Amino acid sequence: MCITTKCHKCGIREAVILQRHSGKLLCAECFIDDIKSRVLNEVRKYHMFNYNDRLLLALSGGKDSYTLLDTILGIHEASKLGVITISEGIQGYSRDEDVVWIMSRCRDLGIDIVRVSFKEAVGYTLFELVNMSKVSDIDVSPCTFCGMIRRRIINRYARELGYDRVLTAHNLDDESQTAFINILRADLSRLIQSHPGGPKLSDLFVRRVKPLRKVYEWESALYAYLKGFKFQEAECPYITTEPTLRAKVRDYFRRLEALEPGVLLRFLNFIDDLVSKFIDESLKIPSLPLCKLCGEPTAHNRSICKTCELLIKVGVMRWA
Ligand SMILES: [Zn+2]
Ligand SMILES: [Zn+2]
Repeated sequence: MCITTKCHKCGIREAVILQRHSGKLLCAECFIDDIKSRVLNEVRKYHMFNYNDRLLLALSGGKDSYTLLDTILGIHEASKLGVITISEGIQGYSRDEDVVWIMSRCRDLGIDIVRVSFKEAVGYTLFELVNMSKVSDIDVSPCTFCGMIRRRIINRYARELGYDRVLTAHNLDDESQTAFINILRADLSRLIQSHPGGPKLSDLFVRRVKPLRKVYEWESALYAYLKGFKFQEAECPYITTEPTLRAKVRDYFRRLEALEPGVLLRFLNFIDDLVSKFIDESLKIPSLPLCKLCGEPTAHNRSICKTCELLIKVGVMRWA
């Protein structure tokens, strides 16, 4: 005898997914609807974009990229979307196959695509930059280097191509880790900056929003899988060879969530509510000054931005 359980939401189809944080058993259709409606709720709650905004999606090609593209296509016109993908150039790690799949879907929908490499933007691949930083004895993790340059490239293209928003595919796991790391570092300004209602500190910044920030990583992966997205989840080699604080927090949070399902969602919701009390005050912060070398915004106490400083230290000074 085969006993099946009905989906807790529709009560009709057979449940195949246990959504541990809600305690619900769901069928595939209701699970997909649940993700879509949570993305829409988050977009509305924080006024992430308006219906006529031009949105640039920063996609790496993985499962989160797919889920972001697919959920946004359900709530925004394809003609107002663009996609940017960045090739960092990391030895032994290529997401080209994943990217090709997503790009072909974008092309079918008539979405503009920009592909940029680190090599084009700064003259070197990330692999080369990391090796140069080792020779120069600079204590900076590859992930810090990569993140800084990637954000810079994306912002510049978004600005020059006239996009209103940049959308990134950070999920709930990513965002709760970021919030926790900012707390560990006692960095209130970064905590406010990563809040969806945080201030835009320069006219040269295109606002970045993260519609998947309340969707668990496993949910994003399952959503992509159920929708037929074929991905090979290769991990960037730098996360394991050179563990950062993030890698440690990520590992800890995974174990915590397994023990107490829903803990990360409650944590991020709590941080959102808490930090929102500081937003009004943070809007009074004056605009950021500009870096004397690259002309991009830099911190209030700096004349040369952190990115330029690092690039100079490793012996590079070229923004294409
Ligand atoms: Zn159902
Ligand atoms: Zn600079």
